[in-house]
Amino acid sequence: MASIFSRIITGEIPCYKVAESETCFAFLDINPLAKGHVLVVPKIEVDYIFDLEEETYIEFQLFAKNIAIALKKAIPCERIGVTVIGLEVPHTHIHLIPINGVNDMNFTNKKIHFTKEEFEEIASSIASFL
Ligand code: AMP
Repeated sequence: MASIFSRIITGEIPCYKVAESETCFAFLDINPLAKGHVLVVPKIEVDYIFDLEEETYIEFQLFAKNIAIALKKAIPCERIGVTVIGLEVPHTHIHLIPINGVNDMNFTNKKIHFTKEEFEEIASSIASFL
């Protein structure tokens, strides 16, 4: 069965999309640790990041870099934290999180709630800097 992220990529499941390329997709995490918490995924469904083919891996990292640069412009923060966990969804993804300190990367922190309108505004603000 297709992963939840593959179903998001095809549009079967809605998301707050930030950007898309031929091979990659970026959207807001639905349970964000911070305003502007973005997930970047390769369209190809591979569970573990280090199982990606070299070419896909490089494209994926460069795509994530461009999203991170736009994200930093859209959301005031010290820098963009980058992490890969992947224990919940078995489809490679990078978390990009605006941070002001190391504790902002703590995944046991309480998640932030945003309204649909707020999520839409955040996604389009990031996209406007791409
Ligand atoms: P992990 O696999 O541990 O890196 O965590 C998966 C991440 O995906 C979590 O931060 C979830 O909040 C996020 N997530 C799961 N389902 C969705 C969804 N439908 N839309 C956006 N984010 C999601």
